[in-house]
Amino acid sequence: MTRIVYLNGDYLPETEARVSIFDRGFLMADGVYEVTSVLDGKLIDFDGHIRRLERSLRELEMSCPISSADLLTVHRELVARNGIDQGMIYLQVTRGNPGDRSFLFPPADLPGTVVAFTQNIPNLADAPAAKVGFRVITIPDLRWSRVDIKTVQLLYPSMGKMAAKKAGVDDSWFIDEAGAVTEGTSNNAYIVKGNRIITRALGNDILHGITRAAVLRFAAEAQFEVEERAFTPAEAQGADEAFATAASIFVMPVVEVDGKPVGTGKPGPVATRLREIYLDEMRKAAI
Ligand code: PLP
Repeated sequence: MTRIVYLNGDYLPETEARVSIFDRGFLMADGVYEVTSVLDGKLIDFDGHIRRLERSLRELEMSCPISSADLLTVHRELVARNGIDQGMIYLQVTRGNPGDRSFLFPPADLPGTVVAFTQNIPNLADAPAAKVGFRVITIPDLRWSRVDIKTVQLLYPSMGKMAAKKAGVDDSWFIDEAGAVTEGTSNNAYIVKGNRIITRALGNDILHGITRAAVLRFAAEAQFEVEERAFTPAEAQGADEAFATAASIFVMPVVEVDGKPVGTGKPGPVATRLREIYLDEMRKAAI
């Protein structure tokens, strides 16, 4: 089926949407993005994603050519026009098309490019992977030092995902110079020890996951202790459980790190429970 996508104010068949070769998103990876999940035809944590988009734009001194109210309309329109019950909405804002290539930013009043499209994933909430969990390998974190800004510079995460595929596993966890886990290629990383959930503290070295914020809130409400600190792959291998979070996977158990099982090597009760709570609560709050 041909999707209807959004480009700079228009809803178009995907085959008709065109962006200039001079767009800075294409030439310089000068753009930011958000991914919002859809359950039951409704948007999950839309406000959180829009707040983070605004922060990413601010950090890069980029203006947003569209208001958050209009972005909500665009998201809802794309869900309706593409008949999405479960899936994702991808939104990208770039610094636009200055008409030539230059390292200097164009004048601030140049309108940026806004693109949004849907991905239909009928079993998003009931993903088979959540029943068996992810197996991960670790690789050096060779990304730039501002991964808290959600830019479209996704080459290294993409290479990390390919390294995982070549190793026959599901994902790579990045390791900083001190030997600690920063995060997954496209998710935040956690371990569980007894009643304690441990995840790296917010900083410039991880993306401030919108799912992370919600899961940590629900974990605290469910009387888990939350400890925000770095952990090593060895600590993960010796933990009771591990898991990852992102808008695209919600809470995903991680059952193996670098070939060694975590806990029983099967999805554990804490990750399973947090996934259930997250899905229940976010479905209730969806808009
Ligand atoms: N970390 C990275 C590097 C990501 O790319 C993502 C999502 O794409 C996340 C964490 C999780 O963020 P969120 O929960 O907002 O989807």
